[in-house]
Amino acid sequence: MAKAQETILEIDLGALEHNFNHLKSKLQENTKFLAVVKAFAYGSDADKIALHLQNLNVDYFAVAFTSEGVALRDAGITKPILVLHPQPITFKTVIERCLEPNIYNSKVLNEFLDLAKELNQENYPVHIKFNTGLNRLGFWENDVDYIVSKLVSNNTLYAKSIFSHLAASEDLNEDAFTRSQISSFKSIAKNFTKQIGYKPLMHICNTSGVLNYPEAHFDMVRCGIGLYGFGNSEKENKNLIPIASLKSIISQIHKIEKGETVGYNRAYKSAGFKKIATIPIGHADGLGRQYGNGKGFVYVNDTKAFIVGNVCMDMIMIDITNIECKEGDEVVIFDKNHTAEDLASASETISYELITSISRRIKRKFSN
Ligand SMILES: *Cc1c(COP(=O)(O)O)cnc(C)c1O
Repeated sequence: MAKAQETILEIDLGALEHNFNHLKSKLQENTKFLAVVKAFAYGSDADKIALHLQNLNVDYFAVAFTSEGVALRDAGITKPILVLHPQPITFKTVIERCLEPNIYNSKVLNEFLDLAKELNQENYPVHIKFNTGLNRLGFWENDVDYIVSKLVSNNTLYAKSIFSHLAASEDLNEDAFTRSQISSFKSIAKNFTKQIGYKPLMHICNTSGVLNYPEAHFDMVRCGIGLYGFGNSEKENKNLIPIASLKSIISQIHKIEKGETVGYNRAYKSAGFKKIATIPIGHADGLGRQYGNGKGFVYVNDTKAFIVGNVCMDMIMIDITNIECKEGDEVVIFDKNHTAEDLASASETISYELITSISRRIKRKFSN
């Protein structure tokens, strides 16, 4: 890839394909693969990522909100799309665009059922979510009778799947809890299937679930972060390739003397002679203020350079005192070797937050 000449997010579709194949290699042949492409495919580009995965014959997509599903339909996605967190105000759109809602409580069930009836739908695919301990979205185990009674009294809706979500699949200290979630999901699924009289798909695993709990892959798995190159462990990271590289350039270099300050509120005060470079990326681009004042860092000519002072809206300043470089040189914020996970953990967050925050104003550039 040519050197960056402005701030740019490079996205490697070849790496995406590698990650997809690696994750698939962990599955049984008939286990379906759902690609989670919410939040612009974790900050990259949902349309391009989903189209590429559709060509690779992924089985399913998921997004968080209805508007994200609509955007995928507009981009030419024809595979089924599960909307994980739809609101009733969007249900008409859900049906018009053939999106498949997560039905997570009785309010949503009743409102979706009423609308689907009104629009003369038959066997409209829905996904019933159960809460097994995350306590975020989902019915409880003792809601099964009620849900089934609602579904079987007419043929308006069809339970295409029943699913749940793990609270700590990446954390082996929580292994016992994860196993209890899996076992209660199994018992809910058994009861549900018996009562409804047909077999919905069962799924509970996210990326770390796929990697750590092969016995819980069931009929489908839902992978997000792994597709984008992070396995939530040192061991698994080795098998995956981060697809996104965030690069920029040095706009200007200042030489400052002892006692001079850098940036807003004079937050950095120099203890001696320093070379400071200004980079055109700031908190409005997703590099939050928590990366300022020596916590965050970038790479100039493969050498780590710390962010000095406060992160500005459109700029950061970095200490390049000991780095051979000049104005116009490339700066790497993260890439395959200097990972978003390393940078994120330097300011007590996780790769998910850093990569999904990269703002829309940064140009995306794709390679194979
Ligand atoms: C975001 C999400 C996923 C994907 O999780 P990863 O850890 O990124 O693989 C799966 N299922 C649900 C319900 C989600 O919200």
